[in-house]
Amino acid sequence: MPAVLVIAATDSSGGAGLVRDVSVLSALGVDAMCVVTAVTAQSNQRVSAVHHVPPEMIREQIAGARATRPIEAIKIGMLGTRATVEAVADGLRDAEAPLVVDPVLVSSSGGVLLDESGRAALLRRLLPLATLVTPNVPEVAALSGEPVAADEAALIEQGQRLLAQAGSRAVLLKGGHADGAQAVDLLLRTDGSMERMTSPRVNGSSRGTGCALASAIAGNMALGCSLEESCRRAKRYVLEKLLR
Ligand code: PLP
Repeated sequence: MPAVLVIAATDSSGGAGLVRDVSVLSALGVDAMCVVTAVTAQSNQRVSAVHHVPPEMIREQIAGARATRPIEAIKIGMLGTRATVEAVADGLRDAEAPLVVDPVLVSSSGGVLLDESGRAALLRRLLPLATLVTPNVPEVAALSGEPVAADEAALIEQGQRLLAQAGSRAVLLKGGHADGAQAVDLLLRTDGSMERMTSPRVNGSSRGTGCALASAIAGNMALGCSLEESCRRAKRYVLEKLLR
C-alpha cells in the first residue's frame, strides 16, 4: 500500500485530528505514517488544554518516517505554534511528495489551534511548499488579513491573492461555511484556471470534516490520482460520511 505522511495533532474527543486522518486513509487502502505535533484535550464543546510537542521531537519523527519507506503524499493539519511550523518546514526540506496543507486555525468550538506568529510562519515557510492549501471561508480571510468574503467573487479574489502571496501551487476554497443549497468548493491554480465542485449542502455542523477532506485528497494523490480528481473523490467521500 502507498504511504501518506500525516503531520497533525491528537483530539481526545475523536472528532478531528489524527484519528480522523488515519481512519480516512485506512478506508482508502493507504498506510499512514504519523508525526504528532500536539496533544489536545477536547470535547465537542471546548478545547481545554494543548500540549505542544517540542520542535526537536517533531524533526525526529519526520526524519524517522522519511528514513523508513517512500512517502507518496504528505498531509499537514494542526500545528499550534511558530516553533512547530519551523520544525515541520525544516523536516520536509527536499521532500518531493505532493503536500496538502489544511490551514487549521481554530476548532469549531472556538479554541485557537494556531497562534498569530504561527500563522505568519505558516505563510512564510510552509505554504510555499504546498501543492494544495485547503482553507474554508473564514480561514482564507484570516490568512489574507481581510474580512470574511461577502460573496463568491470576493472569495475568489482572496484565494487568488493567497496563491500569489504564499506561492502554493493551488488552493481549494471550501464552501462549507458559506450559504446556499449547494456546498461549492473552488479549486484555483496559479495558471489562473478554476474548477467548481458542487455537492448538496448538509445541514448542521460536523466535526473533523476539514481533516477528513484533506486526508482523503492526500490519500487519493498517493494512489496516483490527479489533483483535481483527488479533490472530487475526497469531496464525494466526505459527503457520503456526512449523509450516513
Ligand atoms: N482539533 C484538532 C487536533 C484538529 O486537527 C482539528 C482540525 O484539523 C480540529 C480540532 C478542528 O476540527 P473541528 O473544526 O472539527 O473542531
